[in-house]
Amino acid sequence: MTRADVLVIGGGIAGLMTAWYLAREGTKVTLLEAGELGAQASGANAGSLHLQIQYPEFVKYGEEWARSYAPTLRFLQASIGMWTDLGDALGEDLNVKLGGGIVVARTSEQMRFIEAKAAIEASVGIDTSVLDRESLRRVAPYLSDRAIGGGFCAGEGKANPLRATPAMAAAAQKAGAEIHCGVTVRGITGRVGAFEVHTSQGPYLADRIVNAAGANAAKVAAMVNMKIDLGGFPLQVTVTEPVAPLIPHLIYSAAGKLSLKQAANGGCIIGGGWAAQIRPDGGLSTNPANFAGNMAMAAGVVPSLGQARTLRSWTAWVNGTVDWRPIIGEAPQMPGFYLALFPWVGFSAGPMTARVIADTVMGRPPEFDLAGISVLAD
Ligand SMILES: Cc1cc2nc3c(=O)[nH]c(=O)nc-3n(C[C@H](O)[C@H](O)[C@H](O)COP(=O)(O)OP(=O)(O)OC[C@H]3O[C@@H](n4cnc5c(N)ncnc54)[C@H](O)[C@@H]3O)c2cc1C
Repeated sequence: MTRADVLVIGGGIAGLMTAWYLAREGTKVTLLEAGELGAQASGANAGSLHLQIQYPEFVKYGEEWARSYAPTLRFLQASIGMWTDLGDALGEDLNVKLGGGIVVARTSEQMRFIEAKAAIEASVGIDTSVLDRESLRRVAPYLSDRAIGGGFCAGEGKANPLRATPAMAAAAQKAGAEIHCGVTVRGITGRVGAFEVHTSQGPYLADRIVNAAGANAAKVAAMVNMKIDLGGFPLQVTVTEPVAPLIPHLIYSAAGKLSLKQAANGGCIIGGGWAAQIRPDGGLSTNPANFAGNMAMAAGVVPSLGQARTLRSWTAWVNGTVDWRPIIGEAPQMPGFYLALFPWVGFSAGPMTARVIADTVMGRPPEFDLAGISVLAD
């Protein structure tokens, strides 16, 4: 029977990077993945490195929520800082580019929301500037003439998820982590120093456990009688055929759900939180109406995209919490059981999520103080 110092559940970015950091320090790590590595959200996401407060949530939940969420932006900022060096450490070009992100507005009411949001972001040290029509035109001449201004956040950008997770898995294995795919965790008994993890392939023993099960993490937490407020939400993303270099920014719209960027190969990746449809067998497929809505939204903001053919749409479950707060740290009621769960923008936050979990597992004060950020630090 395999015995590990630390057993990590989930082979997405949170689990793979945690395994890598721990194995690098000589910890005996086993990572169990139900399917294939990076085959869920971490390999299927849109590759945006998000920093600013998302505009639709700001409008939906209001300024009080935004102020309470704002400290989390510092976590994202630190994580994006880690992304910039990650390629060198992993020996792989992750196509990381921080060209800045722009929320594009069409109405003066939207501009007022952008200004209020920028003030809250500035209060925690995030550099967001409000652009009038002329400045926006100078910065991003490819945007529709209907844009009257926008909010520019310099620290945002993109990375390539298809390159990132395989490189992280290779690094974890090279550092000594054992990775077992096709192993579904079904139950957990025991306690710190003597956990028994029951799986589709038999039992595993571990001193400590990290729950990095993404959208399925509430089910894994329930195995130690822990209730967490996290669910899985079905999303879809689309990529166009490669087009000439056009969009150096991460683009959002204040008129609706949109995230849009141009990948290194010229394809434009279009998403922004549009729901996929759940098939009767529980799998996901593209929702045609949402596909059309998302494409129309993109072409409304960047008109030349109306000419680009789409190549592919894909779907995946994202891990989400209602208030957007991350769940990161050791379970208070179950010592030795850790949660590595950053919702909605967990690709951006993955490196720092893994860093603080590895620190906590090793018994060190985490490199990043989670007070006011993780629900487990309250
Ligand atoms: C379509 C889409 C677009 C997105 N776009 C962006 C973006 O542009 N920028 C951004 O920052 N974030 C984005 N996200 C969110 C981001 O991808 C996720 O928050 C992040 O990848 C979560 O990483 P994770 O490692 O926690 O989870 P995952 O990548 O989901 O990995 C969890 C793993 O755990 C495994 N697992 C679950 N249960 C078990 C079990 N019982 N036993 C064994 N293994 C188990 C799963 O098979 C899975 O591989 C997007 C998400 C989606 C779905």
